[in-house]
Amino acid sequence: MLPQEIIRKKRDGGTLSAEEIQFFVKGITDGSVTEGQISALAMAVFFRGMEFEERVALTLAMRDSGTVLDWSDLDGPVIDKHSTGGVGDNVSLMLAPALAVCGVFVPMISGRGLGHTGGTLDKFDSIPGYVTQPDNALFRKVTKEVGCAIIGQTADLAPADKRFYGIRDVTATVESIHLITASILSKKLAAGLDGLVLDVKSGSGAFMPTHEESIELAKSLVAVANGAGVRTAALITDMNEPLATAAGNAIEMKNAVEFLTGDSIDPRNWDITVALGAEMLRIAGLVTDRAEGTKKMEEAYRSGAAAEKFGEMVAALGGPANFVENWQSHLTLAPKVLDIFAEGEGLVEAIDTREVGIAVVELGGGRIRAVDAIDHSVGLDHLAGLGTKVDSNTPIARVYAHSDEQVKKATDRVRAAYRIGVSRVESKTVYDIIDR
Ligand code: URA
Repeated sequence: MLPQEIIRKKRDGGTLSAEEIQFFVKGITDGSVTEGQISALAMAVFFRGMEFEERVALTLAMRDSGTVLDWSDLDGPVIDKHSTGGVGDNVSLMLAPALAVCGVFVPMISGRGLGHTGGTLDKFDSIPGYVTQPDNALFRKVTKEVGCAIIGQTADLAPADKRFYGIRDVTATVESIHLITASILSKKLAAGLDGLVLDVKSGSGAFMPTHEESIELAKSLVAVANGAGVRTAALITDMNEPLATAAGNAIEMKNAVEFLTGDSIDPRNWDITVALGAEMLRIAGLVTDRAEGTKKMEEAYRSGAAAEKFGEMVAALGGPANFVENWQSHLTLAPKVLDIFAEGEGLVEAIDTREVGIAVVELGGGRIRAVDAIDHSVGLDHLAGLGTKVDSNTPIARVYAHSDEQVKKATDRVRAAYRIGVSRVESKTVYDIIDR
């Protein structure tokens, strides 16, 4: 087989066989296929698309390009969640421990933030001592003994996707639903899961530009993951406003601990986290329907068991033993704290959520390039949601920064992101569940 023949076939609208896809992916991994050939195939797929069978074959070939984890020594279902990314999306922090309480094993391999969206791993880096890159033995031990472990991706999981994605990123070929599907799923399936629930965001802070494209991506992900043998469903959830009232790393960690302990729960975050958990319990076969799953999730939070489990996980991965009880003395928040007020008063009619995320990046709390260092202590909280009445007493947000200049920039950007008017707009949570 020759790579150029495979590229030519796709360029001309043909359907690639599983063998051709496996050959090409092997070449991506071992370097025998050149960067030029990889970008040419990506562009051909961008324009010609891939049939369902091709997408399954690409997903499986990229999954098998590195280590595929095996959890057969665990006596329970192994389930994970993947979010397409958002602003104030700290769901994983509350979801994993509650599921562990309910009898699911959650070995959650998370990413870092890029662009306007935050990353789960960056949030854990705000906890002193927490090891986000444990060795395999510790990852397995914590997953087995605690029930959940949130860690970072290791280089040997789906290495073909790492190279492929890097090339797509600089050749304007990321925005192909078929390539996105294989890219996301290859990494998740390499984690050796029994089931997966996807949180596909829709709205002004979402990765996909329109609601229709979010649905299309969700359908493609669900079909291909099930086709690859992993029970999978997707929730389409709202990202027309930040999910938590906080955006930033230590600030979202604080928000998550307050959720778990019941000290302060953002209602949209509660609804979406419980809905994702209920679906994961259903996929795991531990409940008969979503209503029973919802009850179990709520009980895990209300009993305090999820908070306790979170504390166990943090301690087992090197963080402070009293993190949940004493987070104030462990998390560092930037010292300049100022409220941001809207110029007039009225109701929050619309939020450009992406811009709110960019405000955090500009403060230093996110990154433009994957190699950028970040400041975990900066960010925003008290973010007003859609429909909130804001005036000279009620701010639209509170900023945590280090300098007056940072405060000014964040204030300008957040103000511009909020449209204040007279129409009462309702917040949304879950738009749809796609399970086939
Ligand atoms: N995230 C991924 O992991 N892959 C893509 O292709 C796009 C987003």
